[in-house]
Amino acid sequence: MTRTVFIETQGCQMNEADSELMLGLLAREGFAPTPDPNVADLLILNTCQIREMASDKAFSQLGRWGKLKKQRPEVKIAMAGCVAQQVGNTVFERMPYVDMVYGTQNIHDLPRLVRQVFDENDHHVIALDKQKEASTFDYFEDVTQVRQNRGTSAWVTIIEGCNYFCTYCVVPYTRGRQISRKPQSILDEVKRLAEGGVKEVTLLGQTVDAYGQDFNDLRYDLADLFHAVHAVDGIERIRFMTSHPLDLSDRMIEAIAELPKLMEQIHIPMQSGDDAVLKRMRRGYTSDDYYRLTDKIHDRIPNVAITGDYIVGFPGESEEAFLNSVYSVSRAGLYLGNTAAYSARLQTPAAIWEERYADQAIPQSVKEERLQILNEAIRKQAMAHNTPMVGQVQNVLVEGQSKRNPQRLMGRNRQNKVINFDIPDGIDQASLVNSLVDVQVTEAYPFSLLATLL
Ligand code: SF4
Repeated sequence: MTRTVFIETQGCQMNEADSELMLGLLAREGFAPTPDPNVADLLILNTCQIREMASDKAFSQLGRWGKLKKQRPEVKIAMAGCVAQQVGNTVFERMPYVDMVYGTQNIHDLPRLVRQVFDENDHHVIALDKQKEASTFDYFEDVTQVRQNRGTSAWVTIIEGCNYFCTYCVVPYTRGRQISRKPQSILDEVKRLAEGGVKEVTLLGQTVDAYGQDFNDLRYDLADLFHAVHAVDGIERIRFMTSHPLDLSDRMIEAIAELPKLMEQIHIPMQSGDDAVLKRMRRGYTSDDYYRLTDKIHDRIPNVAITGDYIVGFPGESEEAFLNSVYSVSRAGLYLGNTAAYSARLQTPAAIWEERYADQAIPQSVKEERLQILNEAIRKQAMAHNTPMVGQVQNVLVEGQSKRNPQRLMGRNRQNKVINFDIPDGIDQASLVNSLVDVQVTEAYPFSLLATLL
């Protein structure tokens, strides 16, 4: 009997990849995905703690689904992901209509949990381990993920968890210690993707460049994996994220410079340009260490786009410290940066400090102002990168229609810059999707480029 499942994914790409695996596991249990929660037999909320107010948003969504369950009592509701990992079975006290809760370490238990709930009519089933022994993906090497709206590109998780324990971050508490997926499991997935027509893969992990450090019986790192994925026929482009500055080795930089399928784009969060703040964040490097790394990358890969992440308003961040972050954008030659105002996450040391040293907390209004200043510095930097590209020819992987103008197509160049482009009359848009084409840039904006098809 075929049942249907609706899954809502909050937050990061790691969660998106987990949701695709959940759908793959559920397909084996006879579940087909549906885009409509009103008709689904199973509703799964895959939560994320990275964003602010994550648990409030999660509980609001579960509340809406609770109303739905009043009309259709047979529907089953599941809470998964990082918030589930943190709140555990208190969900059942607060929302008794939730049927199952499973954490980030228990995705492989989903088939068992679903059978309990649907076939044995169990209620309030829970699976919340703190640390599993193998990568989620190694439990089911032959499972085929159900890709959602991904078009031409696919995310491939290669490492889960993190060993760093930065003081503001919940990942090590919710996703556990780092576990690398076996190379063969990754290559099998990449080959399946290539056979299905996927041209671009993004190798994913919280600290993707730490890949392989936890193997006991194998010396194999991200550079080795780059070479292996590069050899897969049909794959044209390889990306990877997110890198930690301490793990990005010379071998990896060399592989990116040498292998034509490796895209010239590296995402390396700096988080702060100030050494005192970096120390309190427990990032393990100084601003000079970061600049040495970005200088080396710029020297070896001249047309690289380095992108980063920043947190502003970390407890105790002085005006001078904040200005060091602003300075770092141009000093490191970043192309783009994601920015966020600091907000405390449950369990983290920084949240405990903020409570203990309330006088060091940065007022929300100051955080907002700093965010604006930093965003403006990044916008200017992006514009400085994009302006000289007018007139240049760029190779683009076409993803589909442009969001703002459906007459145009949209794709990304090797540096992952968004390029919207016009096509001559008479060319069928659909025939170009998922192909690599050359376009000539006509106009530059901070976060995109305009071009015409050659
Ligand atoms: S390295 Fe990244 S994922 Fe790991 S603790 Fe630090 S911020 Fe979190």
